[in-house]
Amino acid sequence: MGEVVAKSLTFIFCDGLLLVRSGDWQPAGDDVLAELLTTRQLAAEYRVPLQGHWAKQVSGATDNAPPGYEWVRLRTLLGADVPYALAACRALGMLNWRATHQFCGRCGGVLAEHPVEVARQCAACGHVEYPGPTPAVIVRVEKEGQILLARHVQRIPHLWTCLAGYVELGESLEDAVRREVREEVGLEVDDVQYVASQHWPYPNQLMVGFRAQWRAGELKLQPEELSEARWFDPAHLPDIPPKGTMAYRLICETPAPMMG
Ligand SMILES: [Zn+2]
Repeated sequence: MGEVVAKSLTFIFCDGLLLVRSGDWQPAGDDVLAELLTTRQLAAEYRVPLQGHWAKQVSGATDNAPPGYEWVRLRTLLGADVPYALAACRALGMLNWRATHQFCGRCGGVLAEHPVEVARQCAACGHVEYPGPTPAVIVRVEKEGQILLARHVQRIPHLWTCLAGYVELGESLEDAVRREVREEVGLEVDDVQYVASQHWPYPNQLMVGFRAQWRAGELKLQPEELSEARWFDPAHLPDIPPKGTMAYRLICETPAPMMG
């Protein structure tokens, strides 16, 4: 999984946020968990294979934290290049995956830990479920030095971001990029090029980032998805998602589009 963190950490999650010490952002440990469990329930705990860190989920709200600690979004840790950020994403992703893989998708039997592999297995029929992210594409569309950004109806409505969507069965990633852009804004794009990818544990996507070039069409929005879409000069951007997100990387950390 990339980084090697020698020490086994305990990650305490609540509602998708991680409990860290204020100031140095060290993950809260078992002593803090014991204090939390005087007023909260332990909803799940799991030792994450490969790294050996503990992932623990507590019930309740994130509007209060023990003195000296705070609940933070994982994208904040990713944006700050905190050394354990990727391990925390994997820990939350595994908790999320386990929460929705308690029963066999084939026969409805109870799933239990696979004795050897990182997987869960049905005692009744032997079916094995493996944890895997759902692939989604996100694309920086470029036209004559400008980039296309949109405001979404469902997501944080004041933020302008890249077009994105899930990959359908039967599609290549590049097919998905072309289809999403066509569906959401009515444009044809080509020269679809891979930029980077990122695991996003909400609940578990593999966000695959691309850039693509406008080839034809005028903006015609899909109203269920988008409230607004516009071409922006990269030097004059509106409110965009924060550092740590794939959208930020595509918008701000991808070389400026070529002219012509
Ligand atoms: Zn089964």
